[in-house]
Parts: sequence; structure tokens; C-alpha cells
Amino acid sequence: MMDLAPDVDLKAYAVGRGIRFRDKRLSAPMRAVAWVLGLFGNRRFLTHQWTTMTPRRVFYPDALHDPRADWKPIDLDREVHGVGRLHPADLKGVLERHRPTLLHEFQHAADARRWPVLFQASYVFGPLPILGPSARVRWEARGYAWQIRLGRLSVDDVVGLIWSVYLWPLPKRWIRRIVEREVAL
Ligand SMILES: [Zn+2]
Repeated sequence: MMDLAPDVDLKAYAVGRGIRFRDKRLSAPMRAVAWVLGLFGNRRFLTHQWTTMTPRRVFYPDALHDPRADWKPIDLDREVHGVGRLHPADLKGVLERHRPTLLHEFQHAADARRWPVLFQASYVFGPLPILGPSARVRWEARGYAWQIRLGRLSVDDVVGLIWSVYLWPLPKRWIRRIVEREVAL
């Protein structure tokens, strides 16, 4: 089976691993999470952030549109796994535009498969000392490592992102050490 790599065929990888895509806005649990995060000031969860908690499901935000079709929402799952309305070259364009993010989410899917329970628990029990924060920083470092390898984000960017998005989980220099280690792997 195909491994994750910077130039991996994104569609073939998703099909090979049975990774399905879901529109976040259509998911009641995701809308509930969005409501809770809204209380903490995050209003971009449904509109801009991708989420992967399990080995075979990637939730995409409503920023995912097809610019050639008047920015209509794309049914990404149907496009990748079934009969979509996009020309294959256009689908490839959409996937390529989101390559850094898709690699990040595919890494989460692979980690959720490899470390079941621990992966989800570290997000749900994030506020608990040590285990929650450090495991979550590690998952995110493994995801963001792809954005760094592709030259889209710097180590500084990623340390800042993890620090702020995940509400100061660890001291910044610890986060940096974890990120640098994951990028080097
Ligand atoms: Zn992530």
C-alpha cells in the first residue's frame, strides 16, 4: 500500500486507504463542536478548518469550492470515490490546491489508525495535564511537518499555530523541539 509522501497521488491514496470525505456543515457532531469552539472565540471551524479524528473520515470546510463553477460547494467524496461532475483535470486541480492540507489530514488518519483511542483521547481530554497536550502537539507536529516539507509553512509558523490554535498546550520551546523532530523524520 502506498505510503504518504510529498508527491503522493492524493486521489489514489484516499481510494487505497478507504478515506471518505464529509462536508463539515452537514455533520451534526461537527456543528456541535463548532458551537463549543465558538465559545472560545474560534469562528472558523466550519468555514476554514479541516478535521480528522478517525482512520477513514476527513471533514472538509465550506471554503472548499470549485472556482470554475461559480464557487459552488464540491461534494469531494463523490468526486474522489464516485461519479463526480468535475473533469478529472479539474478534480486534480482542486486536490493539488489542497495538497498540504490533505497530507496533514491523511497523516492524522494514519495516526488515528496506528494509535486508536490515544489519538482521539488526546483531543477530547486535551486540558488534562501532560498526556493530552503533549500527545496533541505531537499529532499536529506530524501533520504540519508536511506543510513544512512542502515549503508552505516555516517551523516558526507551525510553532505559533500550534501554540495559539490549541490554546498554549506546552511551552513554545518544547513545541519547537517536537516539531523539529517530526520534520527530521
Ligand atoms: Zn491537524
